[in-house]
Parts: sequence; C-alpha cells; structure tokens
Amino acid sequence: MTRVLKLFLTVILVAASVVAAQKNAQASEFSSQYVELAGWGRTNSFRVVWNSNGRDFMLTNRSWRLAFTVNSRQTEINGVKAWLSFPVIARGTNASIALLDIQKLIRPLLTPARNNAQRKVTLVALDPGHGGKDKGFETSGYQEKTHTLLLARRLQSLLESAGLKVVLTRSSDVFVELDDRVALAKRRRADIFVSLHYNSAGNGRGDAKGVECYCLTPAGAKSTNTRPDDNATTKAVPGNSNDSRNVLLAYLIQKAMVTSLDVEDRGVRRARFLVLREAAMPAVLIEGGFMSAPDERRQLVGVKRRRDLAQAIADGILDYKRLVERQ
Ligand SMILES: [Zn+2]
Repeated sequence: MTRVLKLFLTVILVAASVVAAQKNAQASEFSSQYVELAGWGRTNSFRVVWNSNGRDFMLTNRSWRLAFTVNSRQTEINGVKAWLSFPVIARGTNASIALLDIQKLIRPLLTPARNNAQRKVTLVALDPGHGGKDKGFETSGYQEKTHTLLLARRLQSLLESAGLKVVLTRSSDVFVELDDRVALAKRRRADIFVSLHYNSAGNGRGDAKGVECYCLTPAGAKSTNTRPDDNATTKAVPGNSNDSRNVLLAYLIQKAMVTSLDVEDRGVRRARFLVLREAAMPAVLIEGGFMSAPDERRQLVGVKRRRDLAQAIADGILDYKRLVERQ
C-alpha cells in the first residue's frame, strides 16, 4: 500500500486548526472565505473519512453524516441531498468549505434555531402556484395550476387535522400576483410560507425527474440554478432575515419527501424567487415532481401520489414546528 493510498484510507484526525479567515487563490475566485474541513470537523466532534478515490469524504459523528466531494457543490446531509453555495475545494490532502456554507447550511441544520416561547408555529400560508390566466406548465391537457391547487387542498386538510391553521393564497382558479401572495401571508401573520409547484425540464435538463425544495439564496452567494440576473454580489433582501429557518424548513420538507416517496432526490436548492425574497416569515418553494416527464406526470396527477406528497410535506412542516418550538 502506498503512502498516499494509506493516507486516503486512514481516518484523518489531523490537528489542523480552523482557518476561518483564510483565502487562497482558488477560494477568492468564488469570493468567499474558506474553512478547512478537517479542523472544523474535529472542533465539532466529527471524524473525517476519505474515500479511496481521494475526492469523496465524509464527516461523521453519532447523529450526522455529511458527505462532500472535492470541486462539487453537491452534498448529502444524513442521506438527503443539498446544494452548497460554493464548491468544496482541495488544499493539499485536506479540503475546505466556504464559511458561508457552514453558516447558512450546515450550522442551521446541526443546531436549529429556537423560536422564542411565545412564538408558536400555528398558521401556515399555502401558496398554490399559478392560477387563472397563468396556467403554469401545460402538457397533454394537464395544467400545473390545477394540480398545485389540488395538492394545496389536500395539504390544508392534513395540517388542519394536525391542529394547525391554514391560509391559502388562492382557493380557486384565479390569477393572483406574486406580490399579493406574499402580502396576504404577511397581513394574516402566517408563521411559514409554503409555495407549491410542479416542475418542467427546460433547456438542457432533458428528462429530469424528482423533487426539489427551494429556499432563499444567502446574500453574497449564487443560486443553485444560476441565472444571468443572479449573482454573488446580491445584497440581503427581506427574506434573508430568516436564512436559518428557511433552510431548516426546506431541509426537513425535502427529507420527508425523499424518505417517504419513491422519487429522485434533486436536493435542497437556493433561488431568489420573488415569493422567497419578499416573504416576512420562513419560506420555501416546493417542486413536487416533473410534469414534463411522462411517467412522473402519470403519478403526480393521480390521487395516491398527491396524498403521499401532501403527507410528506405535512410531516416536514410538523418536524419543523417541533424543532423550533422545543424548549
Ligand atoms: Zn410553477
């Protein structure tokens, strides 16, 4: 066994210190400060285990398994996919992660924020995407707006059975401006905002399938599916005041969906959708499957998938409620 191979196979508990403010040439390319993961992991009671391929590695402890790949933004947190804002980078035999990803993804999941004792999660704003003249994605006689409303109604009844209150941003086939959806949730003082959509594969995404849960991109980062109007210099917007709870809610819903449904996990993603930017409360946008994929569409327009998906989303919301209300 070569020394190099041995090094990769060995559990690395190198006493490397956290280099929180360090930049190197590669890191500055992404305009973010990087933290050496081995050191960070050790400080936070993780073991660092490298795969023999030298690219994949895990930080593990009794409760968590964080999987990373060098030069990739994809990560898995206890088996649930999530997208980092910046790629993990290699530095010698160690790897580094953007400080922003520690602060805005890892930390909020490992040590979730608590609501103060008076602030219970009691009112959920459900936002069925599209409506009226805005049909959303349309194919083979199916319109997204019809199915987001059906999903919202099912989810409403599950949440109400669990003792929560629900406000819908639309309860019939009407057009509602995005601003008005957010304003309604704010006026009614909803505790969380959950927007419901179905996906379609656009340019270059071919026959994509699976579920995604979006929350707001942190200030200073690019969104997961980068668009020309979206860049890392973007300043904080109102929704960024809930960054920690946004990502916690998104993760718990994504986790509930991918563990209870037989679907592809496309991960917790970041976007600057208007409803996420302007929401005054923790907010997510769920893409509950691809209407553009014929076999996935067949399932998601059916009663069974709708019930199962609604149940998973409700479970994720209830997990969130339990976590932020714990004393
Ligand atoms: Zn949509």
